[in-house]
Amino acid sequence: MTGRIRIDENLYTAIHKCTRCGQCTYGNGEAGFEELCPLQMKGRFFTYSAGGLMQVARALYEGKIPFSESIRDLVYLCTTCGACEVNCGVIGDQVDIFTIIKGGLRENGVPLMEAHRVVEENMLKSKAPYGGRLAGRNAWLSKDLRKSLSPRSEVFYYVGCVSSYRETEISSAFAGILSTLGISFTVSDEEWCCGAPLYFSGNEEGARDYARHNVGAIEESGASTVVITCPTCSLMFKKYYPRWLKGALDFQVLHVTEYLEGLMEEGVLKLGSLQEEMRVSFHDPCHLGRGQGVYDAPRKILAEIGGLEMAEARRSKQNSLCCGGGGLLTTGFPDHADFLANQRVMEMKDTGADLILSACPACKENLKIAARKTRPRKRVLDLVELVGRVLV
Ligand code: SF4
Ligand code: SF4
Repeated sequence: MTGRIRIDENLYTAIHKCTRCGQCTYGNGEAGFEELCPLQMKGRFFTYSAGGLMQVARALYEGKIPFSESIRDLVYLCTTCGACEVNCGVIGDQVDIFTIIKGGLRENGVPLMEAHRVVEENMLKSKAPYGGRLAGRNAWLSKDLRKSLSPRSEVFYYVGCVSSYRETEISSAFAGILSTLGISFTVSDEEWCCGAPLYFSGNEEGARDYARHNVGAIEESGASTVVITCPTCSLMFKKYYPRWLKGALDFQVLHVTEYLEGLMEEGVLKLGSLQEEMRVSFHDPCHLGRGQGVYDAPRKILAEIGGLEMAEARRSKQNSLCCGGGGLLTTGFPDHADFLANQRVMEMKDTGADLILSACPACKENLKIAARKTRPRKRVLDLVELVGRVLV
């Protein structure tokens, strides 16, 4: 199918600057220049890399190659992990360029993969990527926790779809922490998905509607701080919502690790000790670390917990390896998502860790499945759940 992607001059110039060096597929010296790009791990030649996709984008822009299902299947192998963005010394907007390619595929009549079409259908029907009959968005709230809600609070907890419907231990743990600390907060039945599944499948216009709706619901609540337990949602709010809504939001947006770190510094949050001493390995979620530059907050919180010894994985922080849970990979290419999760869990197990920890419901979901295969079996938790267990 012929056609061109629509990019502005700045992005075209950025694409032109790609030197095809391949550095985008590797971490830096701290990680021994080990490979990091999940796309490269699948294809093993240059086309399967950010640099390769830059050449694809250029050829599409110049009308030299047609849009096709094979380009779709290549670009959807990218997990949007951002390792290329931090390791390339030349370009910094790779993931946005991939999204423009996906938008071009749509505009030029290339159908979504069936699994992604179903996700989009679910989004339009239920404002969440999941199908079937969904319980109410806030059905996870226990009767007791409901009592702590206050409709006009300073703090708005934006829960996100994974913590609302699947990893509800995370939302319950965070609401429990707020309730124990006596911090009044609100949630909203009017919350919609953050829009990431639409944006990361090239439907930016659709994702903007979700941004407008969510921002409207939060503004109506009068909250001044929005706390989010999912890094993909907080990335949408911090990076894309202001861009789409043409200006800064009227409220502060924090990932839960940033919020808890702040409470700790104010002396509001005090952490005790684990019942048994434990080695813990922390997996940096891609959209939290590389996406938002948040590496220290989770580590500072963990350092306050007694009896906890940190065991850093070989590839961590900026050089963290994606767990495979992002960019619609689990729906489009579940085998590759499993492969990545297995790699990550084995690497964290090799640190001698008793517990694998993350700060993202999608990472937890994906790593948990892989950890079931480890012997002895490793447990996977979200940092919020651990904090909930050691509150003083
Ligand atoms: S995207 Fe950056 S790191 Fe990758 S090949 Fe191009 S210039 Fe090199
Ligand atoms: S975002 Fe991650 S998976 Fe996608 S090309 Fe960059 S390094 Fe590879």
